Amino acid sequence: MVNPERASRAAQTAHGIRSEFVVQAKGEVVPRAPEAVNPNLATGEVELQVDELEIVAHSEPLPFQLDDEGVEEPLRLRYRYLDLRRERMQRNMRLSATVIAAIRRTMEDHGFIDVWTPTMTLGTPEGARDFLVPVRLQPGKFFALAQSPQLFKQVFMIGGLDRYYQIATCWRDEDLRADRQFEFRQLDLELAFPEREDVLDVLERVVVVSFEALDRTPPERPFPRLSYADAMLRYGSDKPDARFGVEIQDATEVTRGSEFGVFANAEAVRFLVVPTALSRAQLQRLEEFAKEWGAKGLAYLVVDESGEVRSPIAKFLSDRELEAFKAPAGSTVLFGADSPAMVERVLGALRLHLGNELGLIDESRNEFLWVLDFPLFLRDEETGQWTFVHHPFTSPLSGHEQLIESDPGAALSQHYDLIWNGWELGSGSIRIHRQEVQEAVFKAMGMSDDEARAKFGWFLDALRLGAPPHGGFALGIERFVALLAGESNIREVIAFPKTASGSDPLTGAPAPATQVRLDELGISVKAAPVKSSGT
Ligand code: ASP
Repeated sequence: MVNPERASRAAQTAHGIRSEFVVQAKGEVVPRAPEAVNPNLATGEVELQVDELEIVAHSEPLPFQLDDEGVEEPLRLRYRYLDLRRERMQRNMRLSATVIAAIRRTMEDHGFIDVWTPTMTLGTPEGARDFLVPVRLQPGKFFALAQSPQLFKQVFMIGGLDRYYQIATCWRDEDLRADRQFEFRQLDLELAFPEREDVLDVLERVVVVSFEALDRTPPERPFPRLSYADAMLRYGSDKPDARFGVEIQDATEVTRGSEFGVFANAEAVRFLVVPTALSRAQLQRLEEFAKEWGAKGLAYLVVDESGEVRSPIAKFLSDRELEAFKAPAGSTVLFGADSPAMVERVLGALRLHLGNELGLIDESRNEFLWVLDFPLFLRDEETGQWTFVHHPFTSPLSGHEQLIESDPGAALSQHYDLIWNGWELGSGSIRIHRQEVQEAVFKAMGMSDDEARAKFGWFLDALRLGAPPHGGFALGIERFVALLAGESNIREVIAFPKTASGSDPLTGAPAPATQVRLDELGISVKAAPVKSSGT
């Protein structure tokens, strides 16, 4: 408050203040007159009676107004410092710091020690491409930026540091999405001699304290546990969104010998019951959607409000089949009939799509769950080789070791994922701690002994010299914080994220290197860098 009678020079200065000028004021803090109290402001009960006022920095006209909600993201990122002044970003940055502080306290309270691991290392197989770092002192050779501290934390267990954690930055060269950046942080942890439940317990505590740090009611523990097989069967996804029902049901048995040939001949027949009688136009759109996911078509039964069935396939279905589909009046049954994998894919995608489209998701619910007992291997679609589901250091379930050689596809693993409302928050596993099991896994993946030695010889050596059983986890900090902040894109909780095309509009990175640097590194650039549009 500048009162011209109390401070005439300050009043004059005040006339020159424009948006985002920085001012410094001295005066007296006094209670506001009762009619001027504003309960919506943190400082709404007091005001500053200004005696001296100084403009300490000017601002040119702004590229966008701070209270404008519709500013395009590239512009927000180009002027991130303005964007950071907005309430949303202030709130998100502070929320993130509160949560990380709570996580650190919990880890320390449980005896975990924070140990740093190298950024520049040998390639680490987490399923993405490595970012490469050339080295002037050894032209032609490259470090990889760590996709995670995975092997280092396992080495800590071998080195007797039996409870490790770190808020570790990880680098992965993969396409960016709402929940993916080139660089992100993980709460990375590892324990020696754990049961699986010990690891899950630490993570559940981390979730609970994070909620508590934000004065929110935490989810109930223990979180539900679901096997991978069940998750795929019921939700068609290994990261189920359990905030709504519409679970997938199986009709493979009941449709054997069906007069509807598509059902009779399909390896798997499954269905969803959607709680509304969908229109022809809606069904047509859903069929298109299903085809995009690989379905050949979309069989359906609509049961209208009077209970009458509207469907081109109803005439082929027996009473027993119709009975099995149990659709109440005012609902639609959607079928998937194909290989199990295709049915899971298509019905899983349809379920989520309809959940959003029909508003079936209860946004007020927080559904945490664990998915357990993943397969150890899956077939790489391109090479046809067995490849790991989590990473190659994941232990098979006890008793499944022999399957690594005899029937890799049937081996289950001790890998577990933490899911919140359909987002994968992180993954972990009990690790292989015996070198012969580790070698068998490399072999099943088609790696020759020489190749395994070249890539992981140093680690196999470590496993030979007394490795305790161990296991751990990594929780994606940005995903977790984004969900806590109610944001659907992790860029909203990262101070300086990359855009979807992988550039930083603030600094203009990435940028070409000078010829001198390239020569020093022994690198010649073949392709001209693709010109970034900045978006
Ligand atoms: N290194 C794994 C990852 O980054 C996590 C783990 O297995 O602990 O996903």
